[in-house]
Amino acid sequence: MLSLLGLLLLALPATCQTYDILLKGGHVLDPANQIDAVRDVAIRGNTIARVAANIPESEARKTIRVDGRYVTPGLIDLHFHSYGYSGAIFPDDTALLAGTTTVVDAGGPGYRTYLDFKKKIVQRTRTRVLALINIAGGGMVGSASEDNVADMLPDKTAEVIKANRDVIVGIKVAHFGKPGWDALKRAIEAGRLAGVPVMVDDKIFTNSERTSREKLLDVMRPGDMHTHMYNDRQVEVVSRFNGKVQEYAIEARRRGVLFDLGHGGGSFLWTVAMPAAKQGFYPDTISTDLHSSSIMMQQSDMPNCMSKMMLLGMKFEDAVMKSTMMPAKVIGRLPEIGTLGEGKVADIAVLTIRDGTFAFKDAWGKKMFGTKKVENVLTIRDGKLVYDAEGRGFPEWTKAGAYEVIP
Ligand SMILES: [Zn+2]
Repeated sequence: MLSLLGLLLLALPATCQTYDILLKGGHVLDPANQIDAVRDVAIRGNTIARVAANIPESEARKTIRVDGRYVTPGLIDLHFHSYGYSGAIFPDDTALLAGTTTVVDAGGPGYRTYLDFKKKIVQRTRTRVLALINIAGGGMVGSASEDNVADMLPDKTAEVIKANRDVIVGIKVAHFGKPGWDALKRAIEAGRLAGVPVMVDDKIFTNSERTSREKLLDVMRPGDMHTHMYNDRQVEVVSRFNGKVQEYAIEARRRGVLFDLGHGGGSFLWTVAMPAAKQGFYPDTISTDLHSSSIMMQQSDMPNCMSKMMLLGMKFEDAVMKSTMMPAKVIGRLPEIGTLGEGKVADIAVLTIRDGTFAFKDAWGKKMFGTKKVENVLTIRDGKLVYDAEGRGFPEWTKAGAYEVIP
């Protein structure tokens, strides 16, 4: 039985231990708050309570040393496939171990399947799942749905968005196999009605009666995003005749059209990315387009995509910014997510940069060697430690404590 003194002793530490978890000694990179320095991060409940130098360990119930590691906002993957699409994967299987705490499903459900998506995916995951819903009412389930202009209804789509703003952050138009602008124009009309951006992924084959120039300059709005920027089928950012970044791409960026990586299994080509990067044409947002095949051969998770951007000359700090603050901003969720601001939800990645020789593969089966590789070593989602590759949050085993039983 506990004596009064015992009760007092139990109560005493609790009054000093203000925080649940303290990430101590890491290099904090929080672009939204312009922090790029060694700082401690204290978490209380599911919230970032304090970011400061030298927060005492005695103030936390659990201290995790992260010296020599980068502490960043949880990564936000703007282009992910968790529903509808034949290669859809369950977010928790790949996201949290990569430091990705938020995925945005890019066009899986349409207005008619949104509730099913919510029930099967959004409500079952530990990863935060947001969505760009498909302008096709049936969602991304093949050409019978994605080419069905009669079921691309801006008013119905906007209605579902307005009723579900907690999850839906925009609209996706993808894989449209018919000529002309019907799909994209309807998506943009739905975007106008609901006040959200559109992510674009459609083909520019010669019989499509669509061109990159017209799409980027005349049809897309400022704030709309073109994904798959480094492939050669959905958009032609680099001229295939002279290797120059197209004037219309530069002009589109100037007028506010955004360019997203959307790596995927078929949409990252060194042939396009190298000349584009040499001319300074980098993505505004880094995203994976992760699905069941791109995770296998290209391993195009967020750290892999960040590593590739660094191989193309992007600074690590910029890769972090384009994987956290920027995606949050383009979907209107900054500063709710994408920062380590005090009072914000504690979604955190702890990253390291490994030195060595690493092969980075593209969609045409070609590799380039790089000397830096970004890896996620620890993830906190909603204040909980959910991934810990290096066992930093684990106390060391000792013989004395092997069968310690808490009475
Ligand atoms: Zn995709």
